Amino acid sequence: MTSPDSALLDQTIHNAIEEASQPTPTEGVFLVGAGPGDPELLTLKAVKLIARADVVLYDRLVSPEILALIRPDAERVHVGKQRSNHTLPQDQINQRLVDYAKAGRVVVRLKGGDPFIFGRGGEEIETLADAGVPFQVVPGITAASGCSAYAGIPLTHRNYAQSVRFITGHLKNDTCDLPWRDFVQSNQTLVFYMGLVGLPVITRELIAYGMTPDMPIALISKGTTPEQQVVTGNLTNIVERVAASGVHAPTLIIIGEVVRLRDKLNWVDSWRQ
Ligand code: SAH
Repeated sequence: MTSPDSALLDQTIHNAIEEASQPTPTEGVFLVGAGPGDPELLTLKAVKLIARADVVLYDRLVSPEILALIRPDAERVHVGKQRSNHTLPQDQINQRLVDYAKAGRVVVRLKGGDPFIFGRGGEEIETLADAGVPFQVVPGITAASGCSAYAGIPLTHRNYAQSVRFITGHLKNDTCDLPWRDFVQSNQTLVFYMGLVGLPVITRELIAYGMTPDMPIALISKGTTPEQQVVTGNLTNIVERVAASGVHAPTLIIIGEVVRLRDKLNWVDSWRQ
């Protein structure tokens, strides 16, 4: 079977990188979303900028295949961001972006997923704006989109959910300072980022605020990568199932009737066999 489309795609990517390696008048900082893991989910703009950058500051969540696109002679700065182990404090990351850009270098600040969704991208470019450093923002595929697609769970569906909420599950000191009442509305899908540690609190609070205990829930670990794992269950048994599965961060939690669609729409596993 010939596959002209794939040849065309390779050519397009090749051209994008070639073009990127030409000197460009661009300068300043590019805040770039690296997507959820699968390197083919990068945008062409991201590929071009990563290949063009003089210096790349990246987070822990950016996969090695993506970092391989960085020019060998470019400077790479790992700025960390592991739970409870921030390699570089946020204000220092912000300051470095300013310093590199003022030194006349093309700076890429590479972040997992989309830089404007739980990525503190806003804070970083606020500092740039204050310092008068030019910047651009390149969106990326956020974990909710990547994980839901690769788990076969549409986030909205005419019959089950007309809205979707992205929520941070990073609950400081086990506090439940979230608008739980709003979360238990029907026909709504909930997506918790950073929710693995808080999962027992999340399930407990949703039940306490009136969500049916048999509401389906899925936890996706390392979504869109070859190591993706999906654990499904309901609000009462998911904590136990997740513990038994031994999954690791990063994980994304999807709660709602749409999770049931996975039984029919899970396509990834059959493609990987
Ligand atoms: N800006 C990122 C989110 C940063 S917060 C985005 O738009 O996706 C980090 C959280 O994102 C993780 O704790 C996890 O909940 C989620 N996440 C990121 N990549 C993921 C992946 N490949 N699989 C599952 N969850 C992921």
